[in-house]
Amino acid sequence: KLIKEETLRRILFNQVQELKGNIRVMCRVRPTFGAEDNAAQISFPDSDKESKELALLGQEERSAMGNVSRKTHAFSFDRVFGPTTQNQEVFEEISQLVQSALDGYNVCIFCYGQTGAGKTHTMSSADGMIPRATHQIYETATNLRDKGWTYSMEGSFVEVYNEEIHDLLGSSKDFEKKKHEIRHDDQKKQTTVTGLKSVSLDSPDAVESILKQADANRSVAATKSNERSSRSHSVFILKLVGRNSTTGETSEGTLNLVDLAGSERLKISGAEGERMKETQNINKSLSCLGDVIGALGQGKEGTHIPYRNSKLTYLLQYSLGGNSKTLMFVMVSPLEANVKETLTSLKFATKVHNTHIGTAKKSTRVRGSES
Ligand code: ADP
Ligand code: MG
Repeated sequence: KLIKEETLRRILFNQVQELKGNIRVMCRVRPTFGAEDNAAQISFPDSDKESKELALLGQEERSAMGNVSRKTHAFSFDRVFGPTTQNQEVFEEISQLVQSALDGYNVCIFCYGQTGAGKTHTMSSADGMIPRATHQIYETATNLRDKGWTYSMEGSFVEVYNEEIHDLLGSSKDFEKKKHEIRHDDQKKQTTVTGLKSVSLDSPDAVESILKQADANRSVAATKSNERSSRSHSVFILKLVGRNSTTGETSEGTLNLVDLAGSERLKISGAEGERMKETQNINKSLSCLGDVIGALGQGKEGTHIPYRNSKLTYLLQYSLGGNSKTLMFVMVSPLEANVKETLTSLKFATKVHNTHIGTAKKSTRVRGSES
């Protein structure tokens, strides 16, 4: 009986999703810490309610007459989480979307925002979306055995830094030396990265060792560039292949959990050499992500989608648009000092929120048939 209700809920969820279009945007405001000036410039949603709105008091502006004023900017998203929200609560809001990867959808979840706004806390920390999603998928896949389904779950974890792909699960020795290329199978609409290690998630605890290995690789690299983690994207990729021994159905879905590079506008001036190249690459890949989403939103047959303009969008080509579901978390800081960046982030997120991409189709098919 339990499974039946669960199945119904999922079907209903997928239908609601299709009506909404398949890009959703949620905002999360981080708390202030110890010595930080709590001059909150954001009016937070009521933590008891499922809020969708927030307002930000902008920077001071001086009129021609010399009057100083501050504009209030109002925003609305699919959900707004205030500073007292815990990761558990955030996960509950996305758990159905996560599950739909088991139903054969390609799912992409991004954390976007300036450095220090809470992206890694939300996505890649020991209590973040990566371990939570993995555990839940593992549990659901186990429950679906009763209905004849067996799933293989393969996890990989990459870093995109300076338009190069590094394997966060590879050996630390050649973390930065080994070259990895993105290969697409346009027929099957599948992506592989050459030489990438993937870890079978045959126990729910395997994800903890994945996160540890990724941290080890990151800390080796960090000795050379302290800010590296805020200057690279990390993408956790979970491939789910299911087969139903009773009905003969198969299902292939991918869950991509993406912790993006800091979105703060980096000034090209002042930066030199390596740092300048790095800066240009971050600006480029984030604006390219926006361009890809924008182009998908035009929804016209034959519209050129500039996936190839950055490694990140090229990697995620088959998980963005078409056959996929996308969620973007925009993370913001509540501090006065960050108002300008916060406004920029919220505007970017609004653009994404206003994009409507056609409905997602899952890739479940009866064995032997093509549809
Ligand atoms: P980012 O990855 O966006 O640069 P982090 O996730 O590293 O930011 O967050 C910066 C700091 O703030 C970290 O120490 C993190 O643990 C803490 N932090 C961020 N968001 C929250 C939150 N919602 N609750 C508690 N601590 C948070
Ligand atoms: Mg981070």
